[in-house]
Formats: sequence, C-alpha cells, structure tokens
Amino acid sequence: MNRELFEGDAAAFLEKAIKEYVATSPANCFESFDGGCIFDEPLVGFDDGDDAIFQDYKTIIGDFHLTPREALAKHLESKGSQKRPSEVSVISFVLPVTYETRLSLRKETMVPSLRWNHTRWRGQHFINELSRHVVSLLESLSFQAVAPELADFFKLENLPSGYASNWSQRHIAYAAGLGTFSLNDGFITERGMAMRCGSVVTDAGIPPSLRIYKDHLANCLFYRDGSCRRCAERCPAGAIGEQGHDKNKCLEFLFTKQKAILKELGREEGYIGRYLGCGLCQTKVPCEARIPPKTRDKHR
Ligand code: SF4
Ligand code: SF4
Repeated sequence: MNRELFEGDAAAFLEKAIKEYVATSPANCFESFDGGCIFDEPLVGFDDGDDAIFQDYKTIIGDFHLTPREALAKHLESKGSQKRPSEVSVISFVLPVTYETRLSLRKETMVPSLRWNHTRWRGQHFINELSRHVVSLLESLSFQAVAPELADFFKLENLPSGYASNWSQRHIAYAAGLGTFSLNDGFITERGMAMRCGSVVTDAGIPPSLRIYKDHLANCLFYRDGSCRRCAERCPAGAIGEQGHDKNKCLEFLFTKQKAILKELGREEGYIGRYLGCGLCQTKVPCEARIPPKTRDKHR
C-alpha cells in the first residue's frame, strides 16, 4: 500500500510523512518549559544525488566532502554490499525554531536563552530521531537509505579556516532548493535562518525540487544590496564582518568564553550540552523567520 503511494508521488509521500512525524512525535516536545514543540512544521526538498553541484562542493568545501552517491556506497560497503544503485536521491529537511524560542533569544546579547540552548541539544536529538524514522520508512519500502550525519563515516576536518564536516547539511539543503547562504554563514530559508536541518540519502528515485533563487547568496540583504549587517551587530564575538564569518573566532567564543560569561551572570542552572549553542546572529535580524523583502519593499 505504502509502496503504491510512494510510486504515485514519491516527493509528496515523503513530505507528508516527515511533516506528520514532526507534528506528532513526543521527541519534538520540550521536556522542560511548557512541553511545547521544539520545531515548527518543516520544509522538505529533494535533489538528484548525481547533481553536478555535489562535485562542485568538492572544490568549494574540500575534496573530503562526500557526494550522495559516495555516502550511499559507504553505507552499502559497511553492510558488506558492493551494489551500485542506478539512482541516488537526497532528502533534505529544515526545521524552523518556534516563535517562543526565537523571542526568548531576541532578548539576549551575550549568551543564548535557556529555550535556545535546549533547542540546540534536544532539537538535535529530535533531528536524529527524525532521520532514523525516514531511513526506516524507506527501508520498509525496500529501498536503501542512510542519514550520513549519523553514519560511522561522518567526520569533521580541522581546516585552517575552522572545522568542516564531510556532509554539510546546509549545502545539502541548498542543493535541494530550500534556501541560500548568508553573511554570517547561516542559511536563509522561506521560514528564515533560525532553524536546524538534516538529510537522508536513498537509492529511491525522487524528482528534484527546483532551485528558485538567483544565486547562492540571494536571500541575504548584505549580498543583495548592501543594506544590512544586523547579524554582525548582534555577534558578541566580533566574528562577522564584511568578509563574512570567522569560524575560528565564533568557535572560540562558543567553546571557551560563553560558559564563563554564563557563570559570571549567575545563570548556569538548567543549561545543557558540551557548549551552549549561540545563535544570537540568527535572531532579532530581518532574516530570522523569513526571506527579508527588498529594501524598497519595506516602504510599500
Ligand atoms: S542579518 Fe542581514 S546581513 Fe545578516 S544574514 Fe540576515 S539579511 Fe544577511
Ligand atoms: S553563533 Fe554567536 S559567536 Fe558565532 S557568529 Fe553567530 S553570534 Fe557570533
């Protein structure tokens, strides 16, 4: 039954399944606070795993960045299979942070709010659950599937410009038409930049989503017309400038300074995780929850 539905419209079938899981899974609820949702309804996009853009990423990010076909081959090898799938597709999902959580972070200037901190860690736990759910669903339909970020082959490279993974979720989301990059190295979707994302690779054939944006920076006002630097003004680490995002400065602040500041403020209680998860540059900015309109549109 499910296989028939899938074959009828694979993209619609998966989008519905992902949205239903986000709407109903208890893992998408905060244990603390009011028990409300961690994430709002997701955006879902698809791309052909053999899209030439994945080869481009080897130049843009580094040779170590996997194509979807390479990720699936590694997964199959780990299961002792030499199979070479005829088709490879990638499914990308964007999970927007809720209004309550964004509002709580807007009030902060040095450390994340408690809700944002829990969204970082409980939210990632939920994304892992969602990724496993999508993999299981595809396997139940007799397809191969893997969530690369959860696989043994996932790794981080320590480059002079900062850490980079061999599976960049934001680059996968860009390939799947879900948004564009920005001055602070974020990713601006139609639900804005305050979001987290995940992805799954499969040997199922799924029609790719359109990439409707003019270029890879089209949704950021700084690159569009130079009218905005709000994310740079929000950054307490001075890690964002006209040249973009200084990953090393950002990580130094996240890993070594922010917990000390939290302690000085006497606000440690209830925070979780190895680091706090900052995100100040993603809220109280025009791209927080939407693609910012052109400057001239503001006056209409
Ligand atoms: S705050 Fe402004 S400059 Fe920064 S990413 Fe958003 S639109 Fe671009
Ligand atoms: S995450 Fe925090 S430290 Fe890093 S660039 Fe954004 S505001 Fe600055």
